[in-house]
Amino acid sequence: MSFQCPACLKPTLRISRVIHLLSDALWDEIAVQLVTCECGFSGAAVYEEERRGRLDEETSRHYGYKLSAEQSAQFKEMLDACPNLNDENCECPTHLAMNASDDMDFRIGIRAVAPRGSCPTFPMKSS
Ligand SMILES: [Zn+2]
Ligand SMILES: [Zn+2]
Repeated sequence: MSFQCPACLKPTLRISRVIHLLSDALWDEIAVQLVTCECGFSGAAVYEEERRGRLDEETSRHYGYKLSAEQSAQFKEMLDACPNLNDENCECPTHLAMNASDDMDFRIGIRAVAPRGSCPTFPMKSS
Protein backbone atom coordinates (compact mmCIF):
# COMPACT_ATOMS: atom_id res chain seq x y z
CA MET A 1 0.00 0.00 0.00
CA SER A 2 1.30 3.45 -0.82
CA PHE A 3 0.16 6.93 0.16
CA GLN A 4 0.16 10.44 -1.25
CA CYS A 5 3.48 12.15 -0.59
CA PRO A 6 3.11 15.64 0.97
CA ALA A 7 6.23 16.84 -0.88
CA CYS A 8 5.87 15.67 -4.51
CA LEU A 9 2.11 14.87 -4.25
CA LYS A 10 2.61 11.56 -6.09
CA PRO A 11 1.16 8.33 -4.66
CA THR A 12 4.63 7.05 -3.91
CA LEU A 13 4.91 7.49 -0.13
CA ARG A 14 5.69 4.18 1.55
CA ILE A 15 5.91 2.90 5.11
CA SER A 16 9.47 1.68 5.48
CA ARG A 17 9.69 0.86 9.20
CA VAL A 18 7.16 0.51 12.03
CA ILE A 19 7.47 0.54 15.80
CA HIS A 20 4.54 -0.86 17.79
CA LEU A 21 3.48 0.72 21.09
CA LEU A 22 1.29 -0.35 24.01
CA SER A 23 -2.42 0.52 23.96
CA ASP A 24 -3.52 3.62 25.87
CA ALA A 25 -6.65 5.32 27.25
CA LEU A 26 -8.32 5.29 23.84
CA TRP A 27 -6.34 3.37 21.23
CA ASP A 28 -5.94 -0.42 21.17
CA GLU A 29 -3.34 -0.42 18.48
CA ILE A 30 -0.68 2.27 18.08
CA ALA A 31 2.04 2.14 15.45
CA VAL A 32 4.61 4.85 14.72
CA GLN A 33 5.94 4.61 11.18
CA LEU A 34 8.90 5.87 9.21
CA VAL A 35 7.55 7.00 5.82
CA THR A 36 9.74 7.68 2.81
CA CYS A 37 9.23 8.64 -0.81
CA GLU A 38 11.40 8.20 -3.91
CA CYS A 39 11.51 12.02 -4.18
CA GLY A 40 13.64 12.08 -1.04
CA PHE A 41 10.92 12.99 1.45
CA SER A 42 11.27 11.29 4.82
CA GLY A 43 8.87 11.74 7.73
CA ALA A 44 6.84 9.93 10.34
CA ALA A 45 3.27 8.70 10.55
CA VAL A 46 1.10 7.47 13.40
CA TYR A 47 -1.58 4.82 12.90
CA GLU A 48 -4.08 4.38 15.72
CA GLU A 49 -6.98 1.96 15.88
CA GLU A 50 -9.74 1.57 18.42
CA ARG A 51 -11.54 -1.77 18.66
CA ARG A 52 -13.33 -1.43 21.97
CA GLY A 53 -16.66 -0.41 20.48
CA ARG A 54 -19.00 -2.68 18.55
CA LEU A 55 -17.43 -4.52 15.64
CA ASP A 56 -19.05 -2.24 13.09
CA GLU A 57 -17.81 0.82 14.91
CA GLU A 58 -14.10 0.24 14.57
CA THR A 59 -12.34 3.56 14.19
CA SER A 60 -8.85 4.43 13.16
CA ARG A 61 -6.79 7.43 12.19
CA HIS A 62 -3.59 7.83 10.29
CA TYR A 63 -1.58 11.05 10.30
CA GLY A 64 1.79 12.01 8.90
CA TYR A 65 4.38 14.38 10.35
CA LYS A 66 6.69 16.53 8.22
CA LEU A 67 9.68 16.17 10.51
CA SER A 68 12.51 18.68 10.39
CA ALA A 69 15.87 17.28 9.26
CA GLU A 70 16.94 17.15 12.91
CA GLN A 71 13.77 15.39 14.05
CA SER A 72 14.02 12.94 11.15
CA ALA A 73 17.60 12.04 12.06
CA GLN A 74 16.63 11.58 15.70
CA PHE A 75 13.65 9.40 14.75
CA LYS A 76 15.83 7.09 12.60
CA GLU A 77 18.40 6.88 15.38
CA MET A 78 15.66 5.85 17.83
CA LEU A 79 14.37 3.15 15.46
CA ASP A 80 17.90 1.83 14.95
CA ALA A 81 18.38 1.63 18.73
CA CYS A 82 15.44 -0.76 19.26
CA PRO A 83 16.20 -4.50 19.02
CA ASN A 84 12.57 -5.50 18.46
CA LEU A 85 10.31 -2.91 16.82
CA ASN A 86 7.35 -5.32 16.66
CA ASP A 87 7.31 -5.99 20.41
CA GLU A 88 5.20 -3.33 22.14
CA ASN A 89 6.49 -4.65 25.49
CA CYS A 90 10.13 -4.06 24.52
CA GLU A 91 11.98 -2.12 27.23
CA CYS A 92 14.67 -0.43 25.16
CA PRO A 93 15.16 3.35 25.66
CA THR A 94 13.19 4.07 22.47
CA HIS A 95 10.17 2.05 23.62
CA LEU A 96 10.38 3.48 27.14
CA ALA A 97 10.33 7.03 25.70
CA MET A 98 7.44 6.37 23.28
CA ASN A 99 5.41 4.16 25.65
CA ALA A 100 5.55 6.81 28.38
CA SER A 101 2.12 8.28 29.20
CA ASP A 102 1.19 11.95 29.26
CA ASP A 103 -1.12 13.36 31.96
CA MET A 104 -4.18 12.38 29.87
CA ASP A 105 -2.98 8.75 29.83
CA PHE A 106 -2.09 8.82 26.14
CA ARG A 107 1.19 7.46 24.81
CA ILE A 108 3.90 10.04 24.14
CA GLY A 109 4.64 8.19 20.87
CA ILE A 110 5.99 10.41 18.11
CA ARG A 111 5.94 13.38 20.51
CA ALA A 112 9.19 11.94 21.89
CA VAL A 113 10.66 13.24 18.61
CA ALA A 114 8.20 15.92 17.51
CA PRO A 115 6.40 17.69 20.39
CA ARG A 116 2.86 18.80 19.51
CA GLY A 117 2.95 21.77 17.12
CA SER A 118 6.67 21.46 16.37
CA CYS A 119 6.13 20.33 12.77
CA PRO A 120 3.29 20.30 10.21
CA THR A 121 1.08 17.22 9.93
CA PHE A 122 -0.69 15.78 6.91
CA PRO A 123 -3.39 13.13 6.36
CA MET A 124 -2.12 9.74 5.18
CA LYS A 125 -4.23 9.18 2.05
CA SER A 126 -3.88 5.74 0.50
CA SER A 127 -3.96 5.43 -3.23
ZN1 LIG B 1 7.50 12.37 -2.76
ZN1 LIG C 1 12.30 -1.36 21.67
